[in-house]
Amino acid sequence: MITHALADTHGRVATDLRVSLTDRCNLRCSYCMPAEGLDWLPDQTMLTDDEVVRLIHVAVERLGVREVRFTGGEPLVRRGLVEIVRRTKALAPAPEVSLTTNGLGLERVAPALADAGLDRINVSLDSVRAETFATITRRDRLADVIAGLESAQAAGLGPVKVNAVLLRGVNDDQAAELLRWCLERGYELRFIEQMPLDAQHGWSRTEMVTAEEILAALTTQFRLRPAVQPRGSAPAELFTVDGGPATVGVIGSVTRPFCGDCDRVRVTADGQVRNCLFAREESDLRSALRAGATDEELAIRWVAAMRTKRAGHGIDDPSFLQPTRPMSAIGG
Ligand code: SAM
Repeated sequence: MITHALADTHGRVATDLRVSLTDRCNLRCSYCMPAEGLDWLPDQTMLTDDEVVRLIHVAVERLGVREVRFTGGEPLVRRGLVEIVRRTKALAPAPEVSLTTNGLGLERVAPALADAGLDRINVSLDSVRAETFATITRRDRLADVIAGLESAQAAGLGPVKVNAVLLRGVNDDQAAELLRWCLERGYELRFIEQMPLDAQHGWSRTEMVTAEEILAALTTQFRLRPAVQPRGSAPAELFTVDGGPATVGVIGSVTRPFCGDCDRVRVTADGQVRNCLFAREESDLRSALRAGATDEELAIRWVAAMRTKRAGHGIDDPSFLQPTRPMSAIGG
C-alpha cells in the first residue's frame, strides 16, 4: 500500500528510481574514470541481492515509485542481475523496469533479461569507429557492443536506445555519422552533454560539447523538428528526423537543465539514497536496513532524504562543487 510520496519542498515528487548495482565497470571511458580504474566499494558495504530488492519493494509498494532503472558502474557485471529484474517486475503494482549498460556481455544475457520482464534498455555507444571507440573507452570492444545491441533488439527489448557523449577533438565530428548508423538499425539515439562527474575532475565548461553544437552538427545533414509530444519529466529534448517517425534526443543536462521537472531519486550500490546526481549529501539506508528497520521506518527515512533536494544542480553557479562520488559510484 502506498503510504508516502517522495516529495521535495519544491513541488516535485520522485517516481523514477535509479538503482546502481555496482560501481565496477569493464570499460574505462575517459570522461568517467581514470585508466587504472578506481578504488571499488568494499564488498561488505555492497547491498546483497535481497537487500536491493527489499529497498525497491519499499520504493514501489510504499513510496509510489513507478519506474526502476538499473545502472552502475556496469550493471551486467552484477551476477544476480536477471533475478533482481525478475523480482522487481513481480512487485505490485509492477514498475516499468529498464537498464542502462555499456553492452558488453549483452549478446548472451539479453534473452534472459527479456524473459525476466525487462521493459527497456539503453546502451551507451559514443562512436561506431573502432579506433575512436577504443580511444574513449580504453578497450577494443566495439564489436561486442554492436553484438549486444543486435541481441537486445532480437530479444524484443526494443526500441533500443543508444546514449552517446561527445568529446571535443575526439568524436565531436561524428554526431551525424552516429545518428545515421542508429537510424539504419532502428535504434533511438540520445546525445548527453558531458557533466562534471568524472573521478579525475577533467570536465571543463568551456571544453564540453553543448546541446546547441550537437544540434548544429546534426542539422548539416538532417532536417530536425521539435517532436510534438510533451517533454514532461523526460530529460531528452526530442526531434523528429527528416519528417519522422524516427527521432533523435539531446539531453542538455548542463546548458538546458531540466531540474524543475525532475522526478528521479537514486540508490547507490552501497545503499545510500541520493536525491540528485549532484547532491553532496546522502542518506544511509543500508545501516538502517541492517539494524533491522521495518519497511515503514525505511520509508520514513527515504521521505526525509527527499526533503533536502535542492531546486537545481547549480553547475553554472560559481559556488558549484562537484560531488565527491564519481558517476560510476552514483549510477548514471
Ligand atoms: N555502464 C553503464 C553504461 O555505460 O551505460 C551504466 C553506467 S554509465 C555511468 C551511464 C551513462 O552515463 C553512460 O551513457 C555514460 O556515457 C554516461 N556518463 C558517464 N560519465 C558521464 C559524464 N561525465 N557526463 C555525461 N555522461 C556520462
